[in-house]
Amino acid sequence: MSAPFTIAIDGPAAAGKGTISKAVAAHFGFAHLDTGLLYRAVGAKLLLGMDPVVAARTLTAEDLQGGDLRSPEVAQAASKVAVIGEVRAALLDFQRSFARRAGGAVLDGRDIGTVICPNAEAKLFVTARAEVRADRRFAELNAAGAAVSRAQVLADVKERDARDRERAAAPLIPAQDAVEIDTSDMSIEDAIAAAIAAIEARRS
Ligand code: C5P
Repeated sequence: MSAPFTIAIDGPAAAGKGTISKAVAAHFGFAHLDTGLLYRAVGAKLLLGMDPVVAARTLTAEDLQGGDLRSPEVAQAASKVAVIGEVRAALLDFQRSFARRAGGAVLDGRDIGTVICPNAEAKLFVTARAEVRADRRFAELNAAGAAVSRAQVLADVKERDARDRERAAAPLIPAQDAVEIDTSDMSIEDAIAAAIAAIEARRS
C-alpha cells in the first residue's frame, strides 16, 4: 500500500463535486468519502425527532445507506444540523482517519481543505453559478421522479449556500491554497480532466 495522500474537494451545493470526486478517486485508485452524506444522515435523524448531537455521536455505517438521504428536505435538514459545532466535532475524527488511510483518499464537502484536512496534499474548490447548479440539481431530481419546480430548487440551493457560507463553525470558503475550478461552462469530461491535471501538478 502506498503512503497516505489526501485530496480535498470543497464547494457549494450541486457544483459537480460528487461527480468529480468519484472520477478522481477512480483515476488514482483512492478511496472516496462524500462527507455531505454524514450531515445528511444526521439531518434525516433530526427529521425523525432525534437530537442532532446525539445522532452525530452515534452515527453508524448503516445510517449512511438510507434511501431518502438525497431528498431536498434532508438536504435542508443537513445544512441546519451542520451549523452546530458539537455535530461537526462529533464527525471530525472519522473524517480525519479516513483521509489518512493507506493508499490515498478523496473527501468532498465544504470544510475539507480548511478544517478537516488543512494539510491535504491537493485541494480543489469546485464552483458554478447558482442558476447552473440549480438546473443540474433540477434535472437530477426530475429524473428521479421528484415533484419540484426549477424555481423551488434554485431557492433551495441559494438558501443552503447562504447558510453554509455564513455559519460561524467551518463556513464554506476556499482554502488559500485550493485550485478553483468553475464548472459553469464546462462539460463533465472537461471538469474531470481539469481536476486530474490540478492534482497531478501536486503529486510531482
Ligand atoms: O454535499 P451535500 O449537498 O450532500 O451536503 C449537505 C449539507 O451538509 C450541506 O449543505 C452542508 O450544510 C453540510 N456539509 C457540511 N460540511 C461538509 C459536507 C456537508 O457542512 N463537509
